[in-house]
Amino acid sequence: MPSLKDKVALITGAASGIGRESALLFAEKGASVLCVDVQMEGAEHTVRDIKSSGGKAAACRADVASAKDCEAMVAAAEREFGKLQILFNNAGIMHSDDDTSQNTSEEVWDLTMRINLKGVFLGCKYGIPAIKRAGGGSVINTASFVAHLGAATPQVAYTASKGGVLALTRELAVIHARENIRVNALSPGPIRTELLMKFLNTDAKKQRRLVHIPMGRFGEAREMAQAALFLASDMSSYMTGAEFLVDGGITAAYVTPE
Ligand code: NAD
Repeated sequence: MPSLKDKVALITGAASGIGRESALLFAEKGASVLCVDVQMEGAEHTVRDIKSSGGKAAACRADVASAKDCEAMVAAAEREFGKLQILFNNAGIMHSDDDTSQNTSEEVWDLTMRINLKGVFLGCKYGIPAIKRAGGGSVINTASFVAHLGAATPQVAYTASKGGVLALTRELAVIHARENIRVNALSPGPIRTELLMKFLNTDAKKQRRLVHIPMGRFGEAREMAQAALFLASDMSSYMTGAEFLVDGGITAAYVTPE
């Protein structure tokens, strides 16, 4: 079983969904976890749950779109726990007004890029030197299955931001490969979290998505946490620059079972 004993992890977006479940699982596997989010109440809730199960964690408020906040969150991990070895750049948004290129405003495009793509860049900008100081480690950047497939339910800013995450991840993996730093992307399929359920807010919309998933169900945040754990741990020691798709088969499907 993968172990994160004596490791220090920083997870962005740890107040909710995939980030929260990953924080709980990483702590369960022995890591000290800095739970970062813009929503402090949620981040503190995650920390309380970790501590009540005997794990180590601390909460930190940071907006991943801010360089100052990203520098401070990495400093907080080193101050609280002495080092940083695992960086999970997971925070992201899906804007309800994200649509076709004609219907998406510049404001929605810019906001999505600032959080979903620049946020990953800034996490790496400050996090990778800290991982280097610790002697190496693992960076996980959250992309999405939508970076691999086109859809007629458009969200052009979101899709482009996630494509950027894949390209950025690949390049960082190559740059840092000989420094004992692995950089991989996690590409989740449709997961039953607040982010997606707010977007697919009717049964008809959920059904429209479900019909494309061979497994016939949404994924659970815990299932993404397990994939992130694999990328964070030494179990994936020969893996870098990968686009780890964990998607119920959606990107493999041409026609799904009846
Ligand atoms: P979620 O909405 O449950 O959680 C996202 C968290 O990120 C929230 O706690 C939110 O407060 C935080 N956040 C948002 N903007 C932030 C910012 N500027 N700085 C710091 N924190 C911020 O969503 P989730 O489904 O758990 O999504 C996690 C990641 O997975 C996102 O990058 C998302 O794009 C990606 N993803 C999700 C799905 C899905 O179907 N749910 C599919 C593919 C990829």
